[in-house]
Amino acid sequence: MRKPIIAGNWKMHKTINEAKSFVEEIKGSIKETDVEAVICAPYTILKDLKEVTKGTNIKVGAQNMHFEENGAFTGEISPLMLKDLEIDYVIIGHSERRQYFNETDETVNKKVKKALEHSIIPIMCVGESLEEREAGDTKSIVKSQVEKGLEGINHEDIKKIVVAYEPIWAIGTGKTASSEDANEVIAYIREVIKNVSSEDISEEIRIQYGGSVKPSNVEEIMNQSDIDGALVGGASLEPKDFIELVNF
Ligand code: PGA
Repeated sequence: MRKPIIAGNWKMHKTINEAKSFVEEIKGSIKETDVEAVICAPYTILKDLKEVTKGTNIKVGAQNMHFEENGAFTGEISPLMLKDLEIDYVIIGHSERRQYFNETDETVNKKVKKALEHSIIPIMCVGESLEEREAGDTKSIVKSQVEKGLEGINHEDIKKIVVAYEPIWAIGTGKTASSEDANEVIAYIREVIKNVSSEDISEEIRIQYGGSVKPSNVEEIMNQSDIDGALVGGASLEPKDFIELVNF
């Protein structure tokens, strides 16, 4: 059985003090369920978040990393540095990184491999733009992103990855893909993964939906057969909403 995973993506929000009081507010209310709760936070908060979440069932993730371990890459953070903080997850290839920071399928692939090498679980994001959806290209786009992102990764490692299907037009717009539509694309991603690995692995790997997920629609989304979790931006910033999301 695939363990549901609800991950907050705080993007470029929150100071250390704001993060600490957030965790103070939520930690008693995250039920001892089988749901994995993750907060993906800016680098500056990660160390403090690790400390304040100690002894809770909240995991901590980063939102990006470089694929090299060291080097002359001003402003970058390496997998070794995340490992140093015992970071559990790292978002790779978020559409905002692809759009504003030249992230490509090739860099995504390198980063996913490096994260796995250092036992950090990558949350690999894929998803089509509105234009691509309207042209009927959703499946070919996600197929190509998934295949290139997973290229050269051995099957045992593939099943550790979390894939997040995030249609770009649904991110931060209040527009959600209908849960049936999202489920259909995610079932298709599972099919693509089956073809690059095996049926068993495609049944084990967890695939999230992301894009305007909020407390009022999370349950319907999570009730879909192939959707194992949600990657949540805006609605993960308020403690009350985060609690409701995780306790869907
Ligand atoms: P959103 O963002 O929930 O604010 O739409 C999701 C994401 O970008 O991961």
